[in-house]
Amino acid sequence: MTGNGEAKGRLIVISGPSGVGKTTICHALRGRGRIVRSVSATTRVPRPGEVHGRDYFFLSREDFVARRERGGFLEWAEYAGNLYGTPKEFVKAETERGYCPLLEIEVQGVEQLRKLGWDGIYVFLAPPSLDDLRRRLEKRGAMAPEVIERRMKVAEQEMNRKDLYDHVVVNDVVERALAEVLAILDRELQGGRRD
Ligand code: 5GP
Repeated sequence: MTGNGEAKGRLIVISGPSGVGKTTICHALRGRGRIVRSVSATTRVPRPGEVHGRDYFFLSREDFVARRERGGFLEWAEYAGNLYGTPKEFVKAETERGYCPLLEIEVQGVEQLRKLGWDGIYVFLAPPSLDDLRRRLEKRGAMAPEVIERRMKVAEQEMNRKDLYDHVVVNDVVERALAEVLAILDRELQGGRRD
């Protein structure tokens, strides 16, 4: 179950505060070698341009809770008033066939995966500073000031949980941070090809 068998794939977990640039990094990792992106479920309303089944599975709270009760999520969290969860079957099936599911999740989810003992490469993407993070959230445009405040509060707590990770990468310049993440994956997945 923990993905420790020789032929099994490992989880690749990219975490860190909202707005730090996880999505950009994860986008660049997609399709490399045996990396397959896990699409999460959420009760959050879609942002402009987001597509059901590609960016998230957008569920009602009722459907999310029913799925959670059935044990459908590997981990889940309530984040800034919305529920988020990683579909369990996808991750199990992909690791079983030797692929590495890429999970872009927040810190409470990482805590659960660690407790469950899931083998993986756990990377925390950190902003150069909290001021920098605030500027990035403001630049997104679509967020109300109170939403930004809520996410900044959570971010401060998340920055104190770096102990959960194997690697901390500062996203100062995205190309540099991506190169660092790729080097980490190369080292950790030795033998696994990433074209
Ligand atoms: P957003 O609303 O900005 O898309 O996501 C909010 C936060 O939830 C981000 O930090 C994102 O990485 C995290 N998140 C997305 N999907 C999941 C998930 O399946 N599980 C957990 N624990 N966090 C998630």
